Amino acid sequence: MEIDILTIFPGMFYGPLSESILGRAQEKGILTVRIHDIRDFSTSKHRVVDDYPFGGGPGMVMKAEPIAAATEHALAARRAAGGAPSRVVMTTPAGATFSQEMAKEFASCDHLVIICGHYEGVDERVSSLVTDRVSVGDYVLTGGELPAMVMVDATARLLPGALGDEESASSDSFWNGILDYPHYTRPRIWRGLEVPEVLLSGDHERIRIWRRKQALKRTLKWRPDLLDQVELTGEDVELLKQVMEDS
Ligand code: SAM
Repeated sequence: MEIDILTIFPGMFYGPLSESILGRAQEKGILTVRIHDIRDFSTSKHRVVDDYPFGGGPGMVMKAEPIAAATEHALAARRAAGGAPSRVVMTTPAGATFSQEMAKEFASCDHLVIICGHYEGVDERVSSLVTDRVSVGDYVLTGGELPAMVMVDATARLLPGALGDEESASSDSFWNGILDYPHYTRPRIWRGLEVPEVLLSGDHERIRIWRRKQALKRTLKWRPDLLDQVELTGEDVELLKQVMEDS
């Protein structure tokens, strides 16, 4: 998968993209991330990328032309290489909230372009180039760089081969619509707190059922809204009944 990120702060990406799973995915050739400085696409002598808002009001607005030129540059390079149509993602608090489902959808794409806004936002006319408007939550950040990193991280870890077996995404929260089960590691007793006996039993079926029940229990307690949307198996319904009886 290839991702082009358009930003006026390229330096923000170098650490996060080179560490851990994202770094490894790039080393393995599963993921290519290119960072473009939007200022390189400004036609002004002083590499200006923002201007005062029409109609007045506070702050500055990112100009359409440098962002359009950077987007078209990324799209043209990709088109020359062939492949499926690209998605152009605008980071904005006004977008659809990013989710695991969206990460799965992005992970099935060959190419993403992510635009990081700043100041009061981006000239609205850039929308004509955008396929997706995505928010990372109902709060306002200074720029689109952190949202872009969140999207790249959540997407890249779903690419085949990005995670080792021991890090499999399939038991993670939201993968199957509910929260993950609790995890424990050595020592067996820590500050007087013991690891649940079943995890030491070596009985894989008992462990599977216990984990599923715990995942359902936490979901019911912390994110009951998720249970309205998920398709439960007969076993899940039975386990949930037990959870409610236990409490
Ligand atoms: N005036 C804009 C508004 O109220 O919707 C906020 C602009 S914000 C200060 C600057 C940029 O940060 C946005 O253009 C966007 O790229 C990014 N941004 C801020 N919060 C975001 C969020 N929750 N999700 C995605 N991007 C965000």
